[in-house]
Amino acid sequence: MSEVFAVYGAAGCGRSLMPVAVEQLKILGNTSQIVFIDDALTHDTSVNGYVAMNYDRFKSLESSNKFVLVAIANGNIRQQLVEKVQHDDIALWTVQGSTTLIMDSVIIGAGSALSPFVTIASNVTIGKCFHANLYSYVEHDCIIGDYVTFAPRVSCNGNIHIHDYAYIGAGAVIKQGTPDKPLIIGNGAIVGMGAVVTKDVPAGVVVVGNPARPLNK
Ligand code: UDP
Repeated sequence: MSEVFAVYGAAGCGRSLMPVAVEQLKILGNTSQIVFIDDALTHDTSVNGYVAMNYDRFKSLESSNKFVLVAIANGNIRQQLVEKVQHDDIALWTVQGSTTLIMDSVIIGAGSALSPFVTIASNVTIGKCFHANLYSYVEHDCIIGDYVTFAPRVSCNGNIHIHDYAYIGAGAVIKQGTPDKPLIIGNGAIVGMGAVVTKDVPAGVVVVGNPARPLNK
């Protein structure tokens, strides 16, 4: 066996990204095997028709080249698994759908997953292992850090900076910044589902509502 590809995580995120990964291999004319990795498995099984195994079993597969997409929505868990995979000299795999649109001068870090109907507009820089779920977009001149996660249909307008580990909930809309004053979503901040973000969100803060305000616990 020369190459083997894997989607790490066989829960919601992984099962939704597997068809995207399969389609990408097909478009490239690559007929290599593709499997699920999930550490909840004690023995090999089948998930949606694909072979599924735990990480130790995956590591033991004989193959000259292994590629892994870590498909887990939680950015911190994603990082732990990515670091383990890289420590084992296994390559990160970046996956995008055939309907994903990437415009000009876009840089996207390794290990990212861009779901179907995602659009990344021009002059955007994105760090490693970004997840953009169905129908999300990133407009021009945005800078996005490492391990950032977008749930479905996030509207990230132009001149927005999103720092590492931030999580943006489904349907959230983030107001456009300006070149001299980008709107900033801080490190590890969480934007709730459907929130309308009109100003900066400090690091670690959870905001909800329209206009988005810090969540009172
Ligand atoms: N998982 C794993 N190894 C880990 C942590 C998680 O294989 O070290 C798997 C876990 O067994 C589960 C999936 O990753 O099947 C994460 O599922 P969850 O529903 O939490 O996340 P989602 O798929 O929604 O991102």
